[in-house]
Amino acid sequence: MSTEIPGKVAADVKCYFCGHVTGQIIGPQGGPLRIGNFVPRPGYKGPEIKPGMSLRCERCHGPVFLEETTVIAPAVEAKLRARQAARQQKAA
Ligand SMILES: [Zn+2]
Repeated sequence: MSTEIPGKVAADVKCYFCGHVTGQIIGPQGGPLRIGNFVPRPGYKGPEIKPGMSLRCERCHGPVFLEETTVIAPAVEAKLRARQAARQQKAA
């Protein structure tokens, strides 16, 4: 019996101008990467990202692009989520 858990992909959100990585967009493997799935880098100080708004570089407000996607295992994703939840609690 083989149970395949679909993986996720993470793409770095990188600035065209200064190369700063503002965060990552995490989405289902083979699926679209949406801004709603944006995960800020640890220590992110930019504006809150909402679906529909355009993502800009946190540091210089330059245009960003998505750099190579990496596949992440579900276990890693759980860790990322836990880290994000901890940060949201701190910010509240
Ligand atoms: Zn920049």
